[in-house]
Amino acid sequence: MRNILLIGSVCLFAVSLLFSQPLFELEGDFIHGGLIRGHTLENISSVSFDGEELTVSDSTFLFGFRLNDPYQHTLIAVLESGEKLQVNLTIADYNQGEIDSITVVPEMIDPPKSPELIKRLEEEYYIKRGARKALVITKFPYFSVIQRPVVGGRITTNFGAKRVYNGWKESVHTGVDIARGTGINVRAMADGMVTLIGDFYYSGYFVFVDHGLGLSSEYFHLSKQKVTESDLVTRNQILGEVGSTGRSTGPHLHWQSNWFDKKLNPLFLIDEISEVREYKWVE
Ligand SMILES: [Zn+2]
Repeated sequence: MRNILLIGSVCLFAVSLLFSQPLFELEGDFIHGGLIRGHTLENISSVSFDGEELTVSDSTFLFGFRLNDPYQHTLIAVLESGEKLQVNLTIADYNQGEIDSITVVPEMIDPPKSPELIKRLEEEYYIKRGARKALVITKFPYFSVIQRPVVGGRITTNFGAKRVYNGWKESVHTGVDIARGTGINVRAMADGMVTLIGDFYYSGYFVFVDHGLGLSSEYFHLSKQKVTESDLVTRNQILGEVGSTGRSTGPHLHWQSNWFDKKLNPLFLIDEISEVREYKWVE
């Protein structure tokens, strides 16, 4: 489901026998939960996605799609000449139909009654959301490969699965759960910087890594954290150990990835290119 989309300019298309190179290319999963990596090839002064200008670093930009996003999106590239190129992107629906029923202690799903817990949950929500929305690293950290954060382990709940807690409370799972024993190393999926660690009510001990241009990853329910905020990490570096802290029914890693506050399917980040499409710009 991964595509490479090539878009050439009007003028380049008109003289495509002489100048057939595209102006930029897009590579990724054009589907809910997918991340697209774009490369500007020449003559582009800015790129915007759905009306928001994207940060371009070393000819690279990123954007992504959350579950329930619209199916139609717009990318506009402004050339150095001032000419604007608009590309309409259509993305696919992602619904794998999985329903996962689990039982947790009632305190973990009942509406919080104590003012202290209400305040804590609210604070933790905004701290995490703030970390996702902050563009800390404006440079693309040159990752060429994104890896699974643990070796082996069975995926017990997929991204987008409908979760039913204790038979009544429903939510959508925004990461991937990998069952693995307590103490197994959890490693960074790519180069980046640790911008938040904590011990939160639902996530337990967690580590948040900023990978640049809005891409981030989160690792929940750890038994140990082995990095601290502001640490620069490289892909495969140990961040902590698998555990069962927070809202968890047994030792596992909840692995989440985001483009700003849009939750992505981490498995889309590590799959192979399976399809290539080529487009030329025509007016
Ligand atoms: Zn999970």
